Amino acid sequence: RTGNAIITGASSGLGLATAKALAESGKWHVIMACRDYLKTARAARAAGMPKGSYTIVHLDLASLDSVRQFVKNVRQLDMPIDVVVCNAAVYQPTAKEPSFTADGFEMSVGVNHLGHFLLARELLEDLKASDYPSKRLIIVGSITGNTNTLAGNVPPKANLGDLRGLAAGLNGVGSAAMIDGAEFDGAKAYRDSKVCNMLTMQEFHRRYHEETGVTFASLYPGCIATTGLFREHIPLFRLLFPPFQKYITKGYVSEEEAGKRLAQVVSEPSLTKSGVYWSWNKNSASFENQLSEEASDTEKARKVWELSEKLVGLA
Ligand code: NDP
Repeated sequence: RTGNAIITGASSGLGLATAKALAESGKWHVIMACRDYLKTARAARAAGMPKGSYTIVHLDLASLDSVRQFVKNVRQLDMPIDVVVCNAAVYQPTAKEPSFTADGFEMSVGVNHLGHFLLARELLEDLKASDYPSKRLIIVGSITGNTNTLAGNVPPKANLGDLRGLAAGLNGVGSAAMIDGAEFDGAKAYRDSKVCNMLTMQEFHRRYHEETGVTFASLYPGCIATTGLFREHIPLFRLLFPPFQKYITKGYVSEEEAGKRLAQVVSEPSLTKSGVYWSWNKNSASFENQLSEEASDTEKARKVWELSEKLVGLA
């Protein structure tokens, strides 16, 4: 049978390109989990995704109620869930003040990490129940959360510190809008959220891979300098960032190529190893990449998991 893959944030950028690649392969039905139904419907049509190859289901990761409702709605589709891709993200590099989700969490970590954490935990049950031969849970990471790379060393660097802000509820009370309890910095909040994504993938692997057979994976698809992720950046940055990545760092990839990479992590028979952070070399060949010290810290992964459980009401 065709596989069924949920992709969050499939209305643009990497998520849309991945949805298109999977739908066009004829082997996948894509559940596009998005906050804006009309935008997603238009994007799917404009991308030429074959009719009947996708279903759009509403999901706003900035609300835990919406996440729970999404899980209910998806179950009502009566389709087995074979792969879940946590891809959606917000990036607010120019924000001077934090903004907050419906549950009162700082937005970047709230959407990118906590919303996905609840979603992934809930859907693990569905993945377990699926009879698909290769079930996968993929959480999109990033080079910018990895301080063992050049890009990850451009300030502000990711740093979860002792997690005091997360422990205090990440609600902006006192100085708790950042995981480490430091002053708010939108660019750092995004990077911190990506470290949480990569830690969560590994903690899932340690806790559930053997028991469930699900493959847990993360990836850095390359610098997709043209996506909506940079929509809140200053215009000069948006103008110069794509050519800078193309000609200077040479880390640039097109949305189409990045979508093919993520689609490989969804469906390639050779990429079934669990607990891996995939990257691609200059010839577009995948390899198992190394994570930074913080992004592979098992003790921190456990603590982030436990604190996140409390915040999303699972503990
Ligand atoms: P885009 O901004 O193009 O896509 C982000 C997606 O997330 C959009 O579909 C957006 O929906 C969705 N989204 C944002 N907030 C919410 C929310 N509250 N609920 C549901 N969906 C939401 O960016 P990219 O395609 O670049 O980003 C996709 C992933 O790739 C992210 O995880 C990012 O960290 C990662 N990444 C990107 C890189 C790059 O260079 N661009 C590099 C490395 C990793 P809407 O259309 O409604 O706004």
